Amino acid sequence: MSSELHKILQAREERAQKRSEILAGSIASVSLSLNIPSYPKHNALCRQVFPWIVEELKIHLLAHRVDLGMEEMITDKAGLLYLVAIEKSDDLKSLKNITESFESNHSVSRILDVDVYDEQAKPVSSGKKKPCIICKDCSAVECMREQRHDYEELRVKMFSMLEGYQVRHRAMEVSEKLSELCSRALLYEVSLSPKPGLVDYYDSGSHKDMNYYSFLNSTAALAPLWKDFALAAWKEKTNLSTALTQIRVLGLKAEQRMFSATRQVNTQKGLIFLLGIGVFSVSYLIKNNQELNDLNIRNCIREICQDLVNTELTASSKKQASHGEKTFLKYGIKGAGARYEAQEGFPVVFENALPFLEQHQEKLDFQDKEAMGEVLSQTLLNIISNTNDSNVLYRKGSEIAEKLKKLASEAIDKKDNYNKLATFCREQQISPGGSADMLAVTLFFYDVKQEID
Ligand SMILES: [Zn+2]
Repeated sequence: MSSELHKILQAREERAQKRSEILAGSIASVSLSLNIPSYPKHNALCRQVFPWIVEELKIHLLAHRVDLGMEEMITDKAGLLYLVAIEKSDDLKSLKNITESFESNHSVSRILDVDVYDEQAKPVSSGKKKPCIICKDCSAVECMREQRHDYEELRVKMFSMLEGYQVRHRAMEVSEKLSELCSRALLYEVSLSPKPGLVDYYDSGSHKDMNYYSFLNSTAALAPLWKDFALAAWKEKTNLSTALTQIRVLGLKAEQRMFSATRQVNTQKGLIFLLGIGVFSVSYLIKNNQELNDLNIRNCIREICQDLVNTELTASSKKQASHGEKTFLKYGIKGAGARYEAQEGFPVVFENALPFLEQHQEKLDFQDKEAMGEVLSQTLLNIISNTNDSNVLYRKGSEIAEKLKKLASEAIDKKDNYNKLATFCREQQISPGGSADMLAVTLFFYDVKQEID
């Protein structure tokens, strides 16, 4: 007997011992393992995905009102094994049905072995036969007995199935987390009160057509859509040179949802574009196992938005130039707005706002409302003082735009100066919406760096 086989047999004996220990005092036990032929019985991929499948099984059992007792995770020469004692279940036959429904509905169903053992540690069988992983129509046991497939062929097939599961699982997990952080950033931004010239809880600033609830409506409308920007980065054919078109398709859909939730008022159109690029970039870096540092994130955004200002703002042959085109023509790069920010990898976020926020990290605890409000307010002022708002430039000209920046800068450390800024915005009917968008984008990247590793 080979020493490898000997070790596997020895591991199996120890498992039987473990199983009876777990079972003591319970009515049954359930085990989950990966059915990998030949050896080694596990690799890094198996070890990564196995705990995910265990979690799914536990949720499945609990949802079916099965009470779980002592549990044990074993990694040994015989493979990966999860054992759990069952404290309460209707009867063993229905428990077996519950585990079989888990097994057969899983995307790597044919690699999973979920077994039920009775009080005496004897396996409970349903008599059903698992289909073969290669030929599908035959049963796995039959193919094994007839030795129809060689082990290498089976292993290659199994590992590729597990890899598919790993990518889908990771893509979904990452996308859900990123969409949570997007909605959080939008909610924090709109809730920050007061804000000069902008919509907040108490005031609609320089706006007559929208209020706090308009923003809640559009934030809610966008909430389910951020996930799509993240998932787009996981598509097999995705690369950075074609990403912008993909992002635009999703952005236009999001825009429609926003307009229908706000009775056709533009609350967050600019933000959809900026945050859409942000979410895609972070998701893309995670997919490619790259570190989420400022440089990597900015390079990714720059690559996606290469030459955006020239392609989109250089006066086209259209009869009527857009606001953006006119402002760019008159003020050059200073008037290029959000497109310039995107093309340069969000300089105001990564060079001003994010470092500022990170310096005041200790104040950013959501349980301390006052401190949080103060640091977010200062961050917004920091952004306004460092942003050439193309909308303000277009409507008010460069003198007013510069004055806005100066007043914002003077209000960062001096609360007394805040009223001067607020009055100025009110009198001039200015709303620094581009800066509010950048605050949300900054909050998103801040949370990404804090909460995703
Ligand atoms: Zn077969």
